[in-house]
Amino acid sequence: MEAKIKEFMEALKGRTPGEIEFHQAVEEVIETVWDVYDANPKYKSAKILEKMCEPERTMMFRVPWINDAGEVELNRGYRVQFNSAIGPYKGGLRFHPSVTLSVLKFLGFEQTFKNSLTTLPMGGGKGGSDFNAKGRSDNEIMRFCQSFMTELCKYIGADTDVPAGDIGVGGREIGYLFGQYKRIRNEFTGVLTGKGREFGGSIVRPEATGYGSVYFAQHMLAEQKEEIKGKRVALSGFGNVSWGAASKLTELGAKVVTISGPDGYILDEAGFDAEKIEYMLELRATNNDVVAPYAEKFGAKFFAGKKPWEAKVDMAFPCAIQNELNEDDAKQLVANGCKYIIETSNMGCTAEAVNYAIKNCVFAPGKAANAGGVAVSGLEMSQNSMRYSWTAKEVDEKLAHIMSEIHATCVKYGTGADGKINYVKGANIGGFIKVADAMVAQGCV
Ligand code: GLU
Repeated sequence: MEAKIKEFMEALKGRTPGEIEFHQAVEEVIETVWDVYDANPKYKSAKILEKMCEPERTMMFRVPWINDAGEVELNRGYRVQFNSAIGPYKGGLRFHPSVTLSVLKFLGFEQTFKNSLTTLPMGGGKGGSDFNAKGRSDNEIMRFCQSFMTELCKYIGADTDVPAGDIGVGGREIGYLFGQYKRIRNEFTGVLTGKGREFGGSIVRPEATGYGSVYFAQHMLAEQKEEIKGKRVALSGFGNVSWGAASKLTELGAKVVTISGPDGYILDEAGFDAEKIEYMLELRATNNDVVAPYAEKFGAKFFAGKKPWEAKVDMAFPCAIQNELNEDDAKQLVANGCKYIIETSNMGCTAEAVNYAIKNCVFAPGKAANAGGVAVSGLEMSQNSMRYSWTAKEVDEKLAHIMSEIHATCVKYGTGADGKINYVKGANIGGFIKVADAMVAQGCV
């Protein structure tokens, strides 16, 4: 089996040289689904895995815009429409200088499995730009979003492809993108999710990724006869995802002691409270991409250039960006008594860290744990189609139910002979089967 996986990966690498993030994401899936693939001739004869690793369509385009000094600036825009077997392409837009085609392909590939796990009819896609919002004015961000959408609008639509936010794309950016789409196409549809409440956005969408991840963690802990209350928790990042997780964890009685930014991490021994969680939003809105001011404001410790994984905690939630937690970090966490790593960023852990964590603590992969965000995006699509909106209670209950279904899927496909749950295996196989069956049913397309 290993030789076959190696052969598959070599062929993929030959076709996609240099796309290291994409190779990393594919390898993790291939290793865990190969048995199922091998045992099903209908998948093999239809070349399902090969097809799943090739996006249905990829758009790359120029994004010119004018800065506040009147100069022309240039960025590159992308949309990767990965897989539409079970629904319209669905996935966020990332605006960050680290964005490359490889990064968006890994994200679009993962999104396909994640969206399948949500139980909702959504295919997988991802897009974005290497645009860096740091230090940019609000007007510059608006002009960039308008130029980006002027091209993107040719490829998306409420029944075709429905983007949303991701790193660097929040409510403000979605508002500008939606405004431009509506202006050019002269239609008010659910073409984007994560919209403002006033124009079709779903209540609970901003909190959904973080909340969902904590709901998933509750199920993991219940399997171990434990509960969230009283746990010390390390979070990374300080954006939307980290903020949602901090609020739900605090509400459930956990003590959040860290957040982080590109400048370092905050250790707040007093734990987070409502005021501090609110301040995270303020920090984000400055466009400065730093967390150090938190330490000064609340008298917490700041460790410049360090990652929060050196803190002594019971649970760790990487919430920032891919490969933010490596094997050494995982070892340090476990050595300090950490029993749970809940990957809340997409591919937040390196392959080595994942392998170590699976063996030495309880590990949840991003495509299961962070699926709450896109799940509520799916609920936003439903509400837009109905031209109706559900209450906070209704959306939150649906989100909690979806996360419990995802957990049950992981248990179903990931429980080994020894009774131990391998969440990576469970999530990958669970996500794969639904998409693979749909692809087989739809023939050679
Ligand atoms: N960017 C989020 C994710 O990684 C959300 C995507 C969406 O809501 O479409 O799943």
